[in-house]
Amino acid sequence: MPDGLRLTVLGSGSCELRRQRSSPSYLLMAGGNAFLLDMGQGAWRALTRQGVSPAMLKGVFLSHHHLDHIGDLLPLLFALNYDPLMHETARITLFGHPGLAKVLEGLAGVFGSWARPPRENLRTVWLEHGERSELDGLQILAGAASHIETSLAYRLGFGGLSLVYLGDSEYDPSLAELARGAELVVAHCAASDERPKPGHLGPTQAGRLAAEAGAKALLLSHFYREVDPLQAVAAAGKVFDGRVLAAEDGMCLDLEPAAGAKLHKS
Ligand SMILES: [Zn+2]
Ligand SMILES: [Zn+2]
Repeated sequence: MPDGLRLTVLGSGSCELRRQRSSPSYLLMAGGNAFLLDMGQGAWRALTRQGVSPAMLKGVFLSHHHLDHIGDLLPLLFALNYDPLMHETARITLFGHPGLAKVLEGLAGVFGSWARPPRENLRTVWLEHGERSELDGLQILAGAASHIETSLAYRLGFGGLSLVYLGDSEYDPSLAELARGAELVVAHCAASDERPKPGHLGPTQAGRLAAEAGAKALLLSHFYREVDPLQAVAAAGKVFDGRVLAAEDGMCLDLEPAAGAKLHKS
């Protein structure tokens, strides 16, 4: 394990139910600690296949509560109550917009105590736009993603390195500010340039955002069938000088200060 940040793509897809691409989820390793970015359906299976037990997670960052990003939340809540390993050992901090409290309340309203884990197992930290936090050496800054009211983007820093997770978002100059000089920007490229979707980035917009931010590398993800990843990389590369990569499930990126994003494919 390197000293820097390691991002493993657990799901590079969307709401589409596909064999090759699970819904959005990413494992972030920082200083030996494991964090999860979003948990679309399939996240737990993909995480355990990486040799990481969900019980080891320190923190989970939710970008927003569209179902493709939280499909595995309910299984987590249930497991924290009734999976003996999780119940006895998991100490997870859940980060999100304050509006997500209603989602948890709603799930508990429907499923009762099965979906209401003990506080010692799941602590919640709700962040407003611009708020900072810290967990086990990971520096956290919440940004405003232009998608739905309860969306957050995150800047996550460790050991002088920064990764910016935009979640689902439209182009917004404030996101370029959030991503200023970051080693890696993870952008959800859910639209093609030819068929823009409100609330989402196309590849050229993602590239422009990374260029304005002065970021070192850009990872395009959250692919729908209609978006060709190779064409998306080419389009973003026309407006961004840094490295551009298309996410695949299982892809692993090591971030080191000098090298930017160094690609390891598992
Ligand atoms: Zn969304
Ligand atoms: Zn989405």
